Amino acid sequence: MGFQIAIDGPAGAGKSTAAKMAAARLGFIYVDTGAMYRAMGLYFLDSGVDTDSEEEINASLPGANVALTMQDGTQHVWLNGTDVSDRIRTEQAGMMASKTSRYPENRKKMTAMQQEIAAANNVIMDGRDIGTVVLPEAPLKIYLTASARTRAERRYRELITRGETADLEKIISDIEARDYADMHRATAPLRQAEDAVLLDTSDMTAEEAADRIVAMARDRMQK
Ligand code: C5P
Repeated sequence: MGFQIAIDGPAGAGKSTAAKMAAARLGFIYVDTGAMYRAMGLYFLDSGVDTDSEEEINASLPGANVALTMQDGTQHVWLNGTDVSDRIRTEQAGMMASKTSRYPENRKKMTAMQQEIAAANNVIMDGRDIGTVVLPEAPLKIYLTASARTRAERRYRELITRGETADLEKIISDIEARDYADMHRATAPLRQAEDAVLLDTSDMTAEEAADRIVAMARDRMQK
């Protein structure tokens, strides 16, 4: 069993950027579990499943094969043999992920994969339920958050940098809707684990957040 760092928090809090930097410095594998739910979201979208029907969702699950690979230190996400690493980053994929991540059978499938990866490696895993459900015994848990406006502004800059058009007010309302859905679903809702350290990154750069994660990890690993 490797050393596990569980990072949870709302959309756009900067979890993945900070976790990726910290993982590189610690020599750990970084696992972005949101990417897996996004790939599943694309799968449901492409197969035309009615996302309001749990029955249809469950019946379609066996046809989805999501895999993660590492290439030159970057995580790639595959859906049924196609690299969907770019496609999962659209707002539509995010909304589809959020809509369908509430279904227990979908979560069961993703959780099993995530636990398998964590059992064999030193990992930093980020998501919504890592410290509470996926890796409840992780020796270091962090709840990473930032204000909704800060998170929306970061997402906005990210989209503009990629050459996409973006509407800040719409991003804020999408982020708030996604947070609400993630925090209020019946299965594995987003919440801070009791033994998680709260890290508010509203006034921190990604480097500063990564520094804090690395320092906490080194401290815990010595114990
Ligand atoms: O982190 P990211 O924004 O890529 O996640 C997309 C969606 O996937 C979230 O809004 C959430 O509904 C879902 N998710 C989840 N559990 C995780 C990771 C992501 O439910 N561990």
